[in-house]
Amino acid sequence: MSRFMCADLAALEPYVPGEQPQDKKYIKLNTNESPFPPAEGVKRAVCERADMLNLYSDPVCTVFRRAAAERYGLGVENVSPGNGSDENLLHIFYAFLRDKGVAFPDVTYGFYKVLCGALGIEYKIVPLKADFSVNVADYASINTPVCIANPNAQTGIYLPTEEVEKLVLQNTARLVIIDEAYIDFGGQSCAPLVNKYDNLIVVQTLSKSRSLAGARAGVSFACEALTADIEKVRCSLNPYNINSMTMYAAAAALKDVPYFEKCTREVQLVREYAATTLKNYGFYVLPSLSNFLMAKAEGVSGQKLYEKLKERGILVRHFSDERIKDFIRVSIGTRAQTEQFLRAAIEIVREELHENG
Ligand SMILES: *Cc1c(COP(=O)(O)O)cnc(C)c1O
Repeated sequence: MSRFMCADLAALEPYVPGEQPQDKKYIKLNTNESPFPPAEGVKRAVCERADMLNLYSDPVCTVFRRAAAERYGLGVENVSPGNGSDENLLHIFYAFLRDKGVAFPDVTYGFYKVLCGALGIEYKIVPLKADFSVNVADYASINTPVCIANPNAQTGIYLPTEEVEKLVLQNTARLVIIDEAYIDFGGQSCAPLVNKYDNLIVVQTLSKSRSLAGARAGVSFACEALTADIEKVRCSLNPYNINSMTMYAAAAALKDVPYFEKCTREVQLVREYAATTLKNYGFYVLPSLSNFLMAKAEGVSGQKLYEKLKERGILVRHFSDERIKDFIRVSIGTRAQTEQFLRAAIEIVREELHENG
């Protein structure tokens, strides 16, 4: 740290993203990207806007916000756009949490902690149950805002809408942030509820189910009053946060419903196939409604499995956190990629168990 950096950032630990090798050597199943290209209209939208890059993008971001709102029968006044949903989270944490703190599960998206560090927000950790699910009752006595990824990151486990509503109603003086980065892979979104509950914010990304990770596009859904607060922060930090190519790419991706449904359905089919195959070969697999699986093999460490897969050209993610260190997280790729992963994983485990007696 230089002698010029603000002293309160001395302990800041930045988010560690999954590897992004810049060659095509690997089958990349480590960052939950979509294995499919963006919808057809996206490329056209980007090219059209590329010719107008001399102009600033629309600071109100209407085309993107409207397309996102329409999906859930909401209005533009219910939507705030982000440069990736990580930025939506920044706006929300900045607007609502700095003076109150926040509570989230012990196993969840690592970025929440990082944001808290950057913004000086205190956080409280609420352990998941032994089966890695969220127990809403554990939040009954918590008066700070709550942030839950649903399906949860690093487990893939889904919390049904009725449970989310319980969490929201448990304490209406408390804000509930639901991060639905993976909701399109089998769960039911709570976005339609934002006009019913004025203490609910739902965050979504176009990175995963809309194949736009590189474009950086996310949204938050909330009642008009909350959205106005979030917009105030967004326009104070960077009113042109969505570049015009992304704005139109996002709108085009949101409008192509058949392609979206085809891709998300395929991910779900391949996920179920992969989960069944892994279990047949003795792996323990968490029940996932996301575009990834958490799997572990008896007698082979998560780190070892990760390394051996990498040697074979397959990238998955391994986390050293105590509760999930035995697992690897594998993103659902195309059927062909997933087949290759399955063959390799099964072989590695067989070899490792053989070697160790
Ligand atoms: C991927 C992810 C995000 C961030 O996605 P962006 O690419 O920034 O839109 C947010 N929350 C969770 C739980 C995620 O897995």
